[in-house]
Amino acid sequence: MTSSNDNLSSKLELQKRLQHRLKSRTDTTSRPTPRTYDQLPQYLRQVLPDNYTYIIKSYKEIELEKFEGAPTAAFDSTFYVNIASTEAIEEWRSAFHNKTGTVFRITRADKVKGIKVIYHKDFHCRHADIAAIKYMQKTYAQKAGQRRSRNTNCQCLAKIRLEKSRLNLSHPCEIHLLYNHNHPLETLNITPQTPSIASMIYTNPLLFPPLSF
Ligand SMILES: [Zn+2]
Repeated sequence: MTSSNDNLSSKLELQKRLQHRLKSRTDTTSRPTPRTYDQLPQYLRQVLPDNYTYIIKSYKEIELEKFEGAPTAAFDSTFYVNIASTEAIEEWRSAFHNKTGTVFRITRADKVKGIKVIYHKDFHCRHADIAAIKYMQKTYAQKAGQRRSRNTNCQCLAKIRLEKSRLNLSHPCEIHLLYNHNHPLETLNITPQTPSIASMIYTNPLLFPPLSF
């Protein structure tokens, strides 16, 4: 009798442990709480477009650069966004560009479309110096010199992926963003209280033609 009781209690114990393990797994990964823009860590708030909600998978702050004009946010983060189409991804990308001044080039774009993946592209900052640039230099040899002059060996990159299997979730689009520019950003978010010479220069298209990218 004692042995069967022991058996039962150890079974229950095992079940309890298993349930606990499942629960903790669920809490951290499968059902994390989406965050509104205001609930994001401060570095993400500085960088991510605000009309979206995000589920953060990982987030690590990186030490800020110290030079004059250095970006005031640096992090390595993977998060999910409430985006479910290619068009919406491009909208997010241009909002990100407008907000941060980051100019991305495509490192890799999967041509395979259809069965599982709707969107899968990798981007790097145009100040990068990575294998992808070398590939592009081969392709666009005549522009190589121009690219080289911009090179600061910046490591900033983004990987954006939208899989069909996630479409029924609230936040289908996965973005890995390594945001650590080692140079000042080119689009200045100038919102001066009073008009300054800088704002006059930057709003005059003759003096400061729009960046081509
Ligand atoms: Zn950069």
